[in-house]
Formats: sequence, C-alpha cells, structure tokens
Amino acid sequence: MRIDILTLFPEMCGLYLNESVIGRARRAGKIQIECTNIRDYTKDKHRRVDDTPYGGGMGMIMQAQPVYDCYMDICAKLDLKPHLIYLTPQGKTLNQQRVKELAKMKNIALLCGHYEGMDERVIEELKPEEISVGDYVLTGGELPALILADAVSRLQPGVLSNEECFTEESHYNSLLEYPQYTRPYEWKGRKVPEVLITGHHANVEKWKREESLRRTYERRPDMLEKAELLPKDRIFFSHLK
Ligand code: SAM
Repeated sequence: MRIDILTLFPEMCGLYLNESVIGRARRAGKIQIECTNIRDYTKDKHRRVDDTPYGGGMGMIMQAQPVYDCYMDICAKLDLKPHLIYLTPQGKTLNQQRVKELAKMKNIALLCGHYEGMDERVIEELKPEEISVGDYVLTGGELPALILADAVSRLQPGVLSNEECFTEESHYNSLLEYPQYTRPYEWKGRKVPEVLITGHHANVEKWKREESLRRTYERRPDMLEKAELLPKDRIFFSHLK
C-alpha cells in the first residue's frame, strides 16, 4: 500500500514516520508513505500558499491552486487517482471499522489543512472523503494524517510481527482488550493474575475473553451492539448483571 501525505510541513511528518514500527516497516518496504510539500506547487513568486479570508475573520486560509496542483501532480506521477481524504474537524469521526476498510486500498492520499483551513472551492472540486480524529480542533491536519497513516499501516501484512497483535486489540472486533502484565510477577504488593502463569492455554484464553468482555461492558457498553458474541459470552454477561 502507498500513502501520500499532502502537507505544508513535511518535516513534521517525517520525524514520526521514520521512527519505531512505522519507520522499520517503511525501510523494509512493507508500506510506502511519501510526504509532498504543497508549497512546492504555489505559483506565487514569494511562495505564498495562504491569504486572508473573504468577508473578514480571523487567520489565514490555504489557497485552492497549490493544493489542487499538488494532488494532480501526485495523480500524474502515480498514473492513478489515490482515494483522497481531507483531515478536518468537520468530517466523520475516524473509527477502527473505517481504518480496516482504508487499509485494504492500494493508494490513499491524506490532505492536511493548516491555519484556519482551506478555500472551500478546492474541497468542492476534489470531493475528498472528510475525516475527523475527534471533536476538538488542532492547529493542522498533520497529526490527524499521522494518526490515520499509523492506524492503516499497522494492519498491512508484515508490519507487526504477528496478526494477533492487532486482531486481539481494542476496537478490532468491537471489544476492548483484556488487561496485560509483564515481569516482575509482584510489584508494589500486586501480583499477576494466577491463571496467566499456569501455562494452561485454554484457561488463559477463557480469562482473556472474559476480561475483554468485562472491560467492554464496564467502559464502553455501546460497543457491544456491534460485537460478535458467542452463546458462552452471553452466559458470562448474565452472571455480571
Ligand atoms: N476553521 C476550521 C473549522 O472551524 O472547522 C478549523 C481549522 S484547523 C485550526 C486547521 C486544520 O487542522 C484543518 O484544516 C484540518 O486539516 C486540521 N484539523 C484540526 N482539527 C482536526 C480534527 N479534529 N480532525 C482532523 N483534522 C483536524
């Protein structure tokens, strides 16, 4: 899969994308993520990419032309039109279900706004999918684009050591993950749950499933509506109530 990030601040994204799991995956060729500087497409002799809003108001607005030309150049270079996503607090809130769907695409492009946002006409022209990372406002779309790129990348084959790393995780199957423990066995008088050190695989799996159900029931009961529950899960819930 290839992800293109269209941004005025490619260095900001590079810092994150070169480190840890995603950095390793990029170097190993498991995922391709390229950042393109929208400023390189301005036709302004002073390299300006923004201007004041018509009708007055605070801040600056990104101009349509550099954004449009930047996306069109990426399309021309790739010889295809990547699915374009504009990161905006006005978009649909991102969730794991949408991440899974996007992870199956071969090419996506993430458009980052900055300042007070973007000239509406380029949004009308390019008709991107609009995605928000939550009901709060950030200074730019770079962090949201990195969140999306990270979430989608870790679902690509070979990015994590084992598929179970993500299929058991919170939200993948509309359940929260069970609590996790590592060494030492005892810390500040608290011991690791006994079942986890028995080596009894079936009991460990039963404990993990039940703790996952319990957590979801206690913290996010709304998620259970979409979870695939087994008859034995329903029996477990009847004991909880
Ligand atoms: N004036 C805009 C509004 O009220 O809807 C907010 C602009 S915000 C300061 C600048 C840019 O940050 C946006 O164009 C968008 O790309 C990004 N951004 C800010 N908050 C975001 C969020 N919650 N989700 C996704 N992108 C966000």
